[in-house]
Amino acid sequence: RYDKRPQRFQYKLVLVGEAGVGKSSLAMQYVRGEFDKDMQTTIGAAFTSKTLHVENALIELQIWDTAGTEKYHSLASMYYRGAHAAIVVYDITQQTTFLRVNSWVRELHRQATPNIAIILAGNKADLEDTRKVSCEDAQAYANDNSITFIETSAKTALNVDDLFSTLAIKLHEEN
Ligand code: GDP
Repeated sequence: RYDKRPQRFQYKLVLVGEAGVGKSSLAMQYVRGEFDKDMQTTIGAAFTSKTLHVENALIELQIWDTAGTEKYHSLASMYYRGAHAAIVVYDITQQTTFLRVNSWVRELHRQATPNIAIILAGNKADLEDTRKVSCEDAQAYANDNSITFIETSAKTALNVDDLFSTLAIKLHEEN
């Protein structure tokens, strides 16, 4: 019927990757539509959330932030527990953050649910002049590991909606 209530789903989404790649900034751009170049390391709340429509369903993404603990190269197990999806973020201007991507992917497979949906995000795509990681290298890694890849900018909002909605659609199709 035309007035059928949409079904509601909740998914836990974790952001992983090296400190400084823009995880908090991506979450803030997506949820609040804001970019703050002086953003302080995560304050307080365990997660922010945003609800989006996929077909006739309402998908609530609960977006967890690392609160800076990624500096220890490993996150608390409660962070991963029950996560349905993950965004692995690197900074296209810092090769070292890309070289660490695979260990974050392995950490996800070790700690989170086995069939977790993963997307790779090459962030700070607005900084083309200082790019160190090519699109081709990242795409090759993604293809080899059957991961979706997208370049984003939390600053200009480039592909930020796409990043989260691609994941929401994936979750909706797989669950
Ligand atoms: P996190 O440690 O991974 O959560 O990274 P933050 O979100 O705290 O961002 C680290 C720094 O990079 C901050 O100074 C941000 O303003 C900056 N930053 C984040 N995303 C972008 C982006 O897409 N473009 C540019 N130019 N700077 C960004």
